[in-house]
Amino acid sequence: MASTAAAHDAACIFCKIIKGEIPSFKLIETPLTYSFLDIQPIAQGHVLIIPKYHGPRLHNIPDEYLSDILPVVKKLTKVLQLDDNDKLIGDGYNVLQNNGSIAHQVVEHVHFHLIPKKTEDTGLIVGWPAEETNFEKLGKLHKELQEKLNKL
Ligand code: 5GP
Ligand code: ZN
Repeated sequence: MASTAAAHDAACIFCKIIKGEIPSFKLIETPLTYSFLDIQPIAQGHVLIIPKYHGPRLHNIPDEYLSDILPVVKKLTKVLQLDDNDKLIGDGYNVLQNNGSIAHQVVEHVHFHLIPKKTEDTGLIVGWPAEETNFEKLGKLHKELQEKLNKL
């Protein structure tokens, strides 16, 4: 299948932000990554982290860009003072990356959300339609996937 990724798309709002054609509240920038405040935050400190490479979905982005992104996310947890709780209980944060409109993606340039989760009703609110554990079904799927992995 042809890749729909290209280094830059002149019509893309996030490509315009990277180039400075549209203003943004910039935070960390590296040669491969750009980060800035989300314009319609779902919590205070909601940040977007994007590769400086235009691609609609995660699989379109070269590995070198993806490798650069997560350390930037980690640095931003410090800047946002999200790194002071290592426990399961208490304040937290979500890192979210949507692919496709059915998965809640609106902007077609890969982006990671870093979203503080301080209260039940701010930040990300997740639906999680978990099934009962079915070892037979899992085992069948695992076998199919292993066969595909062996062909990679
Ligand atoms: P998605 O639903 O695609 O994962 O998230 C897109 C995000 O981009 C949304 O949270 C939205 O508020 C943000 N966004 C859209 N346009 C702009 C913009 O022009 N500037 C900034 N800073 N954020 C934007
Ligand atoms: Zn773009």
